Amino acid sequence: MKVQEFKTGKVLVGRIELGEDLYQSIEEYCIKNNIRQAWVNGLGAVTHLAYFYYDQLEKKYIQAHVDERLEILSCIGNISLKDGKPFPHLHIVCSDRKGGTVGGHLTPGTKVFACEVIFFVLEGASGLNRAFDSQTGLNLWQCGLGQ
Ligand code: ZN
Repeated sequence: MKVQEFKTGKVLVGRIELGEDLYQSIEEYCIKNNIRQAWVNGLGAVTHLAYFYYDQLEKKYIQAHVDERLEILSCIGNISLKDGKPFPHLHIVCSDRKGGTVGGHLTPGTKVFACEVIFFVLEGASGLNRAFDSQTGLNLWQCGLGQ
């Protein structure tokens, strides 16, 4: 395991409003406010869910949608730098009225009914960068490089 040290910085608490795109509103906020590293948690409800499932053998993302009103049981993830730009990596688990769950890797296209979000900003001298990893086909953290 490679590890990189950060200090905890600001804690930002926000509300994403009805009709906003969950992924894009987090991404836009981080870009506008130069939030380069953070841990993110969210709770609330959506009117439409869009997510990816990553096929590890095919090394590709499979898009899925649920056009239903769902509770956000957990939206969790992080912000780090991809190509020098703040990049949200977020996963989401939602439930329907029977308590059935569905989830995956959050993508643009998820429409918010209401959402409470909290950012735990991380501060460090060098950024937390992502780079393409050919073994997994994913853009992974480059922890410990450039320190
Ligand atoms: Zn993911």
